[in-house]
Order: sequence, then C-alpha cells, then structure tokens
Amino acid sequence: MSGNGKILVIGGGISGMTAAIEASEAGCDVVLVEKNPYLGGRVAQMNQYFPKLCPPSCGLEINLRRIRTSPSIRCLTTAEVEKIAGGPGSYQVTVRQQPRGVNNKCTACGACVEACPVERPNQYNLGMDTTKAIYLPFEMAYPVQFAIDGEACTGSECGKCVEACPYQAIDLEMKAETIEIEVQAVIWATGWEPYDASQIDGLGFGTYPNVINNLMMERLASLDGPTAGKIQRPGDEKEITSVAFVQCAGSRDENYQKHCSGVCCMGSLKQTRYVRDQYPDAEIHVFYIDIRSPGRLEDFYAAVQEDEKVHFIKGKAAKITEESPGGDLLVEAEDTLSGRRITQKVNLVVLATGLVPTDAAISIEGGELQRDEHGFLTADQPMAGLLGAGCAKRPVDVAACVRDATGAALKALQNCVK
Ligand SMILES: Cc1cc2nc3c(=O)[nH]c(=O)nc-3n(C[C@H](O)[C@H](O)[C@H](O)COP(=O)(O)OP(=O)(O)OC[C@H]3O[C@@H](n4cnc5c(N)ncnc54)[C@H](O)[C@@H]3O)c2cc1C
Repeated sequence: MSGNGKILVIGGGISGMTAAIEASEAGCDVVLVEKNPYLGGRVAQMNQYFPKLCPPSCGLEINLRRIRTSPSIRCLTTAEVEKIAGGPGSYQVTVRQQPRGVNNKCTACGACVEACPVERPNQYNLGMDTTKAIYLPFEMAYPVQFAIDGEACTGSECGKCVEACPYQAIDLEMKAETIEIEVQAVIWATGWEPYDASQIDGLGFGTYPNVINNLMMERLASLDGPTAGKIQRPGDEKEITSVAFVQCAGSRDENYQKHCSGVCCMGSLKQTRYVRDQYPDAEIHVFYIDIRSPGRLEDFYAAVQEDEKVHFIKGKAAKITEESPGGDLLVEAEDTLSGRRITQKVNLVVLATGLVPTDAAISIEGGELQRDEHGFLTADQPMAGLLGAGCAKRPVDVAACVRDATGAALKALQNCVK
C-alpha cells in the first residue's frame, strides 16, 4: 500500500494527539502508535492544569473526540515501532502490537474485574494502589476498553474473566502482531519520564514512605487517584499539617541532570493550591534555587506568595531524614538570603523531580536519531521528514507542546504528496 499522504506519529500524549489531529484535518492519513493501552500520556495523570487549575480531562476530551470522529486517523495502542527503513518520501515502518487480551466488543461493564482474582500494581497511579490483572486504565480512558496485564494474568488456567464476560470480548489466546506501514514522514512525540529520585543522595526517595515525587502528588490529589483525592501521608495515612516542596530535586545539578525542566516550579506552585484546598491551616515550605514562572505565569506565582502560610526558602534542600520510621521528616537546607542553616520538620515532602526524555529504542536504517546532551531530540535529524514534537524535544508545558506539535504536523505535511 502506498504511503503517499500518510504520516506516522509515535506517542499518543498531548503532543502526539495534536500532531495527528492537525495533520489529519489538513488532509493526511495518520497512524498514531501508543505503547500504553490508552491515549493522553502524562496529562491524563494530572489533577489540574496551571495556571487556570482546570481539570485536564476537558482538553483531552475535546482532542479525543476529534480523534474518534476522524476517518483518517488509525490508532494503534499497546504498540511500539520496532524499525524504520527506507528514506525521505517513503519510510517503511515495522510496528509491534502487544495483545490487549480484550477485543472491541468490550462495553467496559466491569463484570470481568469482579471475577478476576489477581491484583497487580496500578501503573497509572504510580504503584500507590492496585488493580485487577484485567483493568480499565482510568475512567476516561480511550479506547473505552479493558486491557489485560499479560505479566500478572495467569491465563486460560484461570479463565474466570472469560466466563464472566457477557459479550465474548476476552481472548486470552490473543497474540502479538507485526504491522508493516509505509509513510512519508514520522513525528516522535514520545514525551518524558519522571527522573528517578532514588538516584539522588540524601533525599530519601524510595526509602522514606513520606517522601514522594511531584507526579505522585498529582495522583494523590486526583479524585480517581489511590486515595480518592485525599492528600494524606502514604506512610500512615495521616492528614497533613505541614509539607515541603523541594525544587530542582536532581535538576540543574552536575551530579544528576544538568538541565532545568522548566515546568516543575509551576507544578509545585500549583500543588501548593491542592494542599491549601484541603488543609486551610497547613504550613507549606518551598525550597528553591530560583522560581521560574515565565511570562503571564508570574501572576500565578504572585497569587501563591499572598498566602501567608506558604514560606519560600531560597536554598536547595541538602538532606532529608526521618524523625521516626514512617513518621515526620527533617529537611535541611541553607537559606541563602539570610545565610542561616535551617532544619524544617514536616509531615510530607514532595520532590519536584525533572523530566527525562523517554528513550525509544527504534532502529532506523540510514541514521540515528540526533539528541542533545540531555537526551532531547534536536531539530536536525538524519533524514528529511523525521521530526520531534513536544517534550521529546524539550521539557515544556502543555500550551507549548500544542504549538510545537502543530508546527511538526506542518513540517510533516511538507514531506507528503498525495
Ligand atoms: C508534576 C508535573 C505537573 C505538571 N503540570 C502541568 C500543568 O499543570 N500544566 C501544563 O501545561 N503542563 C504541566 N506539566 C507538563 C506536562 O506534563 C507536559 O507538558 C506534557 O505531558 C507533555 O506532553 P507530551 O505529549 O509531549 O509527552 P507525554 O505526556 O509524556 O506523552 C508521551 C506519550 O508517548 C508514549 N510513548 C513513549 N514512548 C513511546 C514509544 N516508544 N512508542 C509508543 N509510544 C510511546 C507515552 O506512553 C505517552 O503516552 C507538568 C509536569 C509535571 C512533571
């Protein structure tokens, strides 16, 4: 089949969805490949968006509707690109789609979940709770179709979900498939992963239960999160009277990640509002090097500064220790404005960890993807029609991703003939 007028988008987060929609609405056929069983990427895990504090589900829903109703977007979830061959104007792409175990007769009725006896860590909630081995990734997930975790499921020797499903939607024998596609351009919108904070010396992530990262905070504050939206300590489920946000955790640091992730300051300022909404009297301590809230986002920073129970301490947190096992935490830092060393006791610490570009192990015949020293894709790729978009290129907020992905779609169109 000819690849004329067809593009491939790798990654179904906000950047990939935008690129796919814009290219399709300009007349291209698009194949959108996403490794998760759902679209939306990291945005689907957010509680609210800065600066307006609206739920990301609104924006996602509009984009999902455009994808659902587009006759020219083919969506492949649980799929990854293995290989790209050919050259400008004609790329042959090999996609490997893993078995979902559930076909499109699924109505998401949930009868299978009640029957399934196996629990597995819920990746959507970053392992802070569990789901059954057959699961709907989250309530608004698209496609609205359950998926089976092939590693957790015990297969046909159990088969309880198959018996329970009234629609014959479950196929435990489903096999992985290889799909060959020809396209004229490829957009990488593979996004980001949170920096693994357990690599940072002295901050206790992975050792102390009450030290969490900023993405975990998004899930804790979300109504469909592990605590139904109640912000509480993971260690003992206690309510919060004090919390510390530790900025640049592993970022702008020669020993870890040198780059600034650009969005973590706004992320933490936003999360101070989550705490304040639930705890009017909580003391909030923000340890920072400098707060980066560019352009009109400065107004949001100014509004947070008016909260007299939010204390900004200009100094990088050097060490976190537990006062007692699973209990309060002591954050040590030097306040560089006063020159004093301080030790602040809090109930919960949120590490503002930065964004790491997702590594996509794709073999490209005729050249390698070009990345900068931090691993983000550069503008110059080995062949025409190979493009990056959104956080695969640099850490930015959603508005910037949407602009960048629209630009990438336009560039992809320039490589297409119909
Ligand atoms: C704590 C925190 C809070 C934030 N809050 C906000 C906010 O309030 N407002 C705001 O504007 N921004 C916010 N951001 C930034 C926002 O999360 C990013 O701008 C956004 O996620 C970028 O979207 P993306 O599509 O580029 O990447 P992602 O959201 O990472 O999506 C990439 C997609 O690609 C898929 N993928 C990866 N590799 C492959 C592969 N090999 N094959 C197939 N698929 C693949 C992934 O599964 C994922 O679905 C926040 C960031 C953090 C850390």
